[in-house]
Amino acid sequence: MNHPWKQDRRRLWVFRIVYLSLLLATVPVLLWNSFVGQFNASFSDILFRLRSPVRTSGVDSIVLVAIDDGTAARYGPLPLKRSLLAAGLDRIAEAAPRVLVIDLLISEPGPPGDDKKLAAALERFPRVVLSAALASDSMANPSWILPLAGLGSHAVAGHVHAAPDPDGSVRSVLLAKLTEDRRLWALALEACRLFLSGSVLVERADSIVLDDIRIAARSREDRRLRINYAGPEGAFRRVAFSAVLDGTANLAELRNRIVIVGVTAQGGGDRLFTPVSSGIGMSGIEIHANIARTILDRAFLVSPSPPAELALAASILSLCAFGTWRLRGWRLPLLWFSLAVAILTAGWLGLRSGYVWPVGSMLAVLMVASAVSGASEYGLVRLALRSSEEKRSEYAFRVQAIAHEIKTPLTAIQGQSELIADSTMPENERARMAGLLFRESKRLTQILHTFLDVERMASGSLKLEKRPVPLHDLCDEVVERGRLFASRKKTEIVADVPQLTVLADPELLSFAIYNLLTNAVKYSPKQTRITLRAEPSGGGVQITVSDEGYGIPPQDQQRIFDKFYRVSRDQTGTEDGAGVGLALVKEIAVQHGGKVTVESNLGQGSRFTIVLPEGMPPEEGAA
Ligand code: ADP
Repeated sequence: MNHPWKQDRRRLWVFRIVYLSLLLATVPVLLWNSFVGQFNASFSDILFRLRSPVRTSGVDSIVLVAIDDGTAARYGPLPLKRSLLAAGLDRIAEAAPRVLVIDLLISEPGPPGDDKKLAAALERFPRVVLSAALASDSMANPSWILPLAGLGSHAVAGHVHAAPDPDGSVRSVLLAKLTEDRRLWALALEACRLFLSGSVLVERADSIVLDDIRIAARSREDRRLRINYAGPEGAFRRVAFSAVLDGTANLAELRNRIVIVGVTAQGGGDRLFTPVSSGIGMSGIEIHANIARTILDRAFLVSPSPPAELALAASILSLCAFGTWRLRGWRLPLLWFSLAVAILTAGWLGLRSGYVWPVGSMLAVLMVASAVSGASEYGLVRLALRSSEEKRSEYAFRVQAIAHEIKTPLTAIQGQSELIADSTMPENERARMAGLLFRESKRLTQILHTFLDVERMASGSLKLEKRPVPLHDLCDEVVERGRLFASRKKTEIVADVPQLTVLADPELLSFAIYNLLTNAVKYSPKQTRITLRAEPSGGGVQITVSDEGYGIPPQDQQRIFDKFYRVSRDQTGTEDGAGVGLALVKEIAVQHGGKVTVESNLGQGSRFTIVLPEGMPPEEGAA
């Protein structure tokens, strides 16, 4: 049998491994659900907002020409008359931008004269991108709303389809958009292509290559590109269309740049929510500018692959688990706090170099891991506390038991030694008392040995020393001692024990029988009779102690075998006891693979039976 401490440790480890595996198994569920996905998005939004606007060559390459509220007030209403648009474009053409992007849907014919003017103006630009949109009325089978034919012979169409996340925020753009008959590239991608060299886009399964820029946008994800916003609205240089028309704008800054013309006026409706925009959303031209700058600056945002994310989560979990097992007191919350700070800092630093950590997932994993490991350790501590409490009360029980059992012989020894000191005592009487003293002190030693053995047995460090025991002789010796005890009440003890052999630990067995005998004496009136009987039963032996005593109330009959349980009754009150004797008898019987039972009738007497499973014929035992 293992030492209980060792067993506890093994249980502890099994518990820890099971709980860590369960926790690891929940990681995928934790990482990849829409709630945590939203959590991740919100966290990177916060980090985006904390970042101050970037100034890069990409940002510098783009100028926005805004049909803003001022333009609407002066030249409105919106949409602006095509003749006015043409007039503005004529001016812009003089500044010779490298690419002109018109983020206005011009698909229906207008007054013929105006359309002609617009076409002529567009003709002045060598590179033009016009907007195309998806017809929103039939999403099942969408079709393109394309720019009016004949608008600029150099013009290409780029789609302005926005793909907001479920929370309505635009965090990415689908670079390619497909209908049954035609695939269009995003407006901003077309602008970049024309801006760089006008060369063709090379398509690969996992990327689109534009000159020496490799855009990681997988075909199976509709070429989704995450937008690395340069800052909130206003990150790009901007000219009001009214200023262009008025001739007050400094058009020199449009030279050689991508010029994006579109509506920013609040009534124009071309606004969408983004991670960095305020309550009114970001204007469409600013979003296109951000897409273009992401490409031109090669400021692509990457996230860890699912296996990398899994590994990251597993390491956070392991760190938490390790900390929970190793760190105590304030160090544990400090570890959790440091991990949270590390995750946030990594998120912050990562974003600066284009790496988007799944901060939300990591924090969720940390929260769950710290809660679960904290709770489990709390549980473990409580378990340990309970088991140590049990051990403590067991220990107290044994101390009580020893104290109780040695009290009787000690009282006898004290009494005898007082008498022996009397010098008038005849010599033969003195010798008799000395003998008594000797026997009682021997008994004391034996009781102590028995207790120590029972205790060591319960702790698993002692095996029962079972051997063939001649039951008759053993009972003889116990009855003799019992008679000494019984003499005070003039109780008669009758023994009827045949020559049987039983496989038992003789010390413990005689202790158990002696206990039943002394109990029978204690809980019977004076001058009654106690019978000790033994007989074969099944393959073993049963030993019965019957008395004519007070009996035990039915409701107490099972509980008397519990530690410290005593029946509250008048007669018992006069008898000393700690309520441990029967608990020990039961333990001894159980350790032998047997049991102890009681039958009792109030006022008539009780009968205790110890059943031992291993008996043998006397010859065999003798052999
Ligand atoms: P103790 O004798 O120290 O009280 P035990 O564990 O030996 O402790 O017994 C528990 C209780 O069972 C006793 O207090 C007593 O009330 C009851 N009991 C035990 N033996 C007998 C008996 N032979 N007759 C009546 N009651 C008994």
